[in-house]
Amino acid sequence: MSPAGYTGRFAPTPSGSLHFGSIVTALGSYLQARKQKGKWLIRMEDIDEPRTRPGTDKIILKQLECLGLLWDGEIVYQSQRTPLYRSAFEYLNSLGLIFRCTCTRKEIANRPYPGTCRHGVADVTTGYSMRIKTNDDDIACDDVLQGKFVQSIASEVGDFIIKRADGLFAYHLAVTVDDAEQGINEIVRGADLLDSTPRQIYLQTLLGYNLPGYLHLPVAINNDGNKISKRSHAAAIDHDNPSQVIFEALDFLGHAPPYEAMNADIESLLDWAVKNWDLNTLPKQTQIKINHGSQNDAI
Ligand code: GLU
Ligand code: ZN
Repeated sequence: MSPAGYTGRFAPTPSGSLHFGSIVTALGSYLQARKQKGKWLIRMEDIDEPRTRPGTDKIILKQLECLGLLWDGEIVYQSQRTPLYRSAFEYLNSLGLIFRCTCTRKEIANRPYPGTCRHGVADVTTGYSMRIKTNDDDIACDDVLQGKFVQSIASEVGDFIIKRADGLFAYHLAVTVDDAEQGINEIVRGADLLDSTPRQIYLQTLLGYNLPGYLHLPVAINNDGNKISKRSHAAAIDHDNPSQVIFEALDFLGHAPPYEAMNADIESLLDWAVKNWDLNTLPKQTQIKINHGSQNDAI
């Protein structure tokens, strides 16, 4: 990959404002792109309409601006890209890999999907989702930070949903199509998505896409061991002190700036971070606990 050709992205779900964990991901993907003089795109993952909250996209963009994380190009909204997902879906269907599934969530509470509807369903008048057939191949993701992650989708996940019973295309299809269509050649995101990656690689392969590289960053968890999320009511970012937030996110990523930089303006702090960004310095854990101390004050 030529450095000039690097294209990365940050893909928040606009279901709530950014919290410390999502800022870490935004910052990591930003620095990785800027270090390579590449592009950094933003994609609003609002495909799951029931989960999104109107106006949250604008709040997220304001937060990014306030943190100095300025993006390239137009913002892409998944909710406006249904035709792209439909044509990928139709192509997969033409390969004979898509089938209707009438199982309820309750019936398949435990992964992997047992293949109940693989060979046809009798009654399709009721709601049904569409699944894609998987196989026993081991699919490997060579993550630049986490190393090799191997999964047999068939035995560990099973045939997975491509189109939901409510008619929406599923997250895995949308992400795969979008990353390819936007020319993303390295995906930097939270390690909670490592487990989803083989499904996305499977779809990339079937759809004949170029395979992107991966960098899964450690995820911030709270004292109870849960991911810091919108649901855990992480408070909004302190707009009065964006440098402090960036400082602490850098510290989380093993890139604590010199103490004197604590009061630096955002621009100099980010300049310092781009210059000093080094994959060898990143922590390799998939999860890191943050104390109810300094980092939490920043969110
Ligand atoms: N929209 C997902 C999230 O907010 C991220 C998906 C991705 O980066 O591939 O967790
Ligand atoms: Zn089924």
